[in-house]
Amino acid sequence: MDDVHIADRTDWRDYWREASEDDYVGELTTEIVGVGEDSREPVGTLALACAGAEAAENLSRALSHEWAVYTPEQAATVASAVYAQIEASAANLRALADVLGPVAARGDLEAPEPAVALLRKAADELGAHVQRTAGPVTDALSALPSDLSLPDSVHETVAAVAVLTGGELVVPHEPDDFDPEDDTFGCGCSVHLKHAGEAYDFHRGDAEWSLTKESDGVARPNGSMAWTDWVSFAASEPCAHPKQLAAEIKEALARDSA
Ligand SMILES: [Zn+2]
Repeated sequence: MDDVHIADRTDWRDYWREASEDDYVGELTTEIVGVGEDSREPVGTLALACAGAEAAENLSRALSHEWAVYTPEQAATVASAVYAQIEASAANLRALADVLGPVAARGDLEAPEPAVALLRKAADELGAHVQRTAGPVTDALSALPSDLSLPDSVHETVAAVAVLTGGELVVPHEPDDFDPEDDTFGCGCSVHLKHAGEAYDFHRGDAEWSLTKESDGVARPNGSMAWTDWVSFAASEPCAHPKQLAAEIKEALARDSA
């Protein structure tokens, strides 16, 4: 997200709305949006209700990891999205209360009080809570001071990891002569590391960061080396936080020599 967007924000909801334009979010949500547009019967209602609960519960799992967010902007975006879920949940509790009227009117269930009164009360309380705190919380999070400067390219990521790990940066390309759009194989650079008498190579391939051990390599008939075993890292983005990658490398090396 660039500075122009940030300056344009007038609403706490803008944080998650902008982030939801990301391709990866779209991959996850396209089906949900389609079900929402087409649903006119219980199967769609239940699918959306349960998918929402699943997303919220799995967000807790994602947030339980220390690298779940890198920046104040990302923290504000998560808060914005969670508040949007609460706001939508309040509206949904109210909508559920509303729809029970027609269901009762056609004789398919008994008069729905007092459940309807409780649904409306819960909706009002949740809505009031969002109104009171969503704006101040997202503003405060996005304004948190931070010195973090993340890499701008896959090459900067490898170079930063080399510095952090004390490894040797191996650069097979001229400066800036790599495809910045290549998220799969990156720029071709790698970091050579020594640990407990073994040599390792940290590099990008197949849309992930990985670590191979030199002695695991198998010579092919043409003389090149191949690996059937390597360590893949939880941090997979081309511009992942270099300290996360360095920490994962340290853990992998310790595990390997244990
Ligand atoms: Zn490079």
